Amino acid sequence: MDVIIGVAAVNKTAASQPYGLVGKVQVLAFSFVLTLAAGLAVAWMLMTYHQRQSDSLRVETVEKLGRIRADVESLLSGSLALTQGMATTLYAHGKLTDQEFNATAAQLIGQRPEIRNLGVAYGTVLRQVYPLRGNEKALGLDYRLHPQQWNAVESAITNGATVVDGPLNLVQGGVGVISRTPVFRPTSVGGKPEYFALVSLVIDIGTVLDRAGFNDPDISLTLALEANGALFHGDASILEQAPINAEIKFPGGSWRVYALPATGWPQAWWRFDPWLSLIGLALVAAVTATSLVAAMAWHHRTHLVSSLRESESRYRNLLDTAPAAIVLHRGGRLIFANKEAVRLLAAQSAADLIDRPMLDCIHPDYHSVVSDRVGSLRQIGDEVPPLRMKLITLDGGVVDADIASSAVLVSGKLAVLAIAVDATRTVRAETQRQAVLDDLQRSNDELRQFTAAASHDLQEPLRQIATYVQMLERRYAPLLDQDGHDFINFTVEGVVRMRRLLHDLGLYAQVQGAGAPFKRLELVSILAKVRATHQDRITRLSAHISDHNLPAVMADETQVEQLFENLIDNALRYSRSAVPPVITVFAQRQGAFWRIGVSDNGIGIDGQYQATIFDAFTRLHGPSLTAGSGLGLAICRRIVERHGGQIWVESEPDRGSTFYFTLPTA
Ligand code: ADP
Repeated sequence: MDVIIGVAAVNKTAASQPYGLVGKVQVLAFSFVLTLAAGLAVAWMLMTYHQRQSDSLRVETVEKLGRIRADVESLLSGSLALTQGMATTLYAHGKLTDQEFNATAAQLIGQRPEIRNLGVAYGTVLRQVYPLRGNEKALGLDYRLHPQQWNAVESAITNGATVVDGPLNLVQGGVGVISRTPVFRPTSVGGKPEYFALVSLVIDIGTVLDRAGFNDPDISLTLALEANGALFHGDASILEQAPINAEIKFPGGSWRVYALPATGWPQAWWRFDPWLSLIGLALVAAVTATSLVAAMAWHHRTHLVSSLRESESRYRNLLDTAPAAIVLHRGGRLIFANKEAVRLLAAQSAADLIDRPMLDCIHPDYHSVVSDRVGSLRQIGDEVPPLRMKLITLDGGVVDADIASSAVLVSGKLAVLAIAVDATRTVRAETQRQAVLDDLQRSNDELRQFTAAASHDLQEPLRQIATYVQMLERRYAPLLDQDGHDFINFTVEGVVRMRRLLHDLGLYAQVQGAGAPFKRLELVSILAKVRATHQDRITRLSAHISDHNLPAVMADETQVEQLFENLIDNALRYSRSAVPPVITVFAQRQGAFWRIGVSDNGIGIDGQYQATIFDAFTRLHGPSLTAGSGLGLAICRRIVERHGGQIWVESEPDRGSTFYFTLPTA
């Protein structure tokens, strides 16, 4: 089973760390490629749209131009055909009377407002004009006298075909074209046709163009007309804008008509539709932003995943190299075990443990406590403190371990992380220590009993020695010289000191062994008893013992009495000669203890001995000065320590000493 360890341990720095240069380049490259693709797609769409719009405008323009061209062509051709009609009439009838001419012309022209007039020249002189009104001046015009017109007339006569002249500014005003058709007629029956007359027709171009819709605003075209290589209508600038053109053909000539949509051709595709371009740009920007965000998110995720992997392998290493056995279990089954766990449980590999019931590894004595502990781990962060228990190894052995557990999240589900520290050595060491302690205790007890018994049993023979030596002195006094008396005195003194030593040794041995239970004691009463014991000495030495606010303590009465007894005894004994002892007993509260001080104005203690005087048999002064055993302060220390307190001294030689000790408050 693959268990991801340390999911929660991906550190924040890894997650929030900005990615490096390579990461940035990847993100930018990805975003750039997407933006480029989006830009190209938008450009292609705009171009296609532009192309379609341009094409449809072009088709529309071509269609409109076609219509206009056809209209102009039909108007011109229709009008020009009239000259043919008049020419045919002249051919058939010869010279027409003015009446005949007018009737024929009226018939031919009908409702054609674009025709200014129809004229007939017999020979080279214009003789008949229809309508006459407004054209009276033209009558009698001899073409030969007007070179400008004669060229066209002569060309028509010479070629025997219609010649269309113009566009040109008409004498009557406006612009027009003049068609001239020669009529050839045989002068005699069967004779050769000879030039007879010239039919001229003046067409007003303005009207033609009007009728063809040139000036209709609805047509939405900008138009220009060209004849003989020169524009005669419209703006020359449209020629520079790639206009559509068409040829207008009519008998005797042709024009070229140029057209542009009124709005001109569409702008370049990127300027063609500002809104569309703007939407396209916005689209590209959106793609850039989205791709950038997506790339960053993708990169961030990749980064996170690799951090997670790194973190996981780091934690796996950490777990495997940890000196503690670490297992994970869920639903009562093991799902992970590190190397130390494999070793501790005597498995071959973690696979031996995975999926095994967790309780299989716990000694049956601890099954219920382990189940209770696991049951109390209900949410992440819950933990139970280390508990020593016995584990059952796969090879059936038993090992001691301290196990602490906590609830963790593994692969998104709650599991229990148990950390077990092999306690086999500790337990063994503790057992050994306990055995040594027991031994020590036993031998201490024996020693104490031996000391108590010895001190007690030796008293009797000593008393006998003293008694008999004193009897010896009394009975044989006359026989003894001074040395004999001195020897007997030394013997008796030695015996007294020996008895005191044995007595104190007995007390020293008893302090720990024969202690009574603690009870509430008023220190004032204790001090009063001790004072009473020493009353003779106090009087003899003119000593003064005072006490201040002595409290009650929880202590062993006999021992506290002994403590005060020893300290007061010392204070009286180690007084300066000729200086009456002044002894003060006082107390101060220190938390759960009282600090009690016994001060005197005696000989004091040199600083270097202040620590050692509490050791047994330490005496700073010879037997001549005092009759102590060197055990008094050692007994005091044992008593104080048995009560959980401390004892120490502060002293100045020749000024006095203060012995402090602490006892529990009552
Ligand atoms: P001892 O039986 O000799 O008095 P203690 O253990 O009571 O033995 O005292 C140890 C030594 O400490 C003494 O020999 C003495 O030199 C010194 N000492 C004890 N109490 C006092 C005191 N109040 N003033 C000066 N010296 C003291």
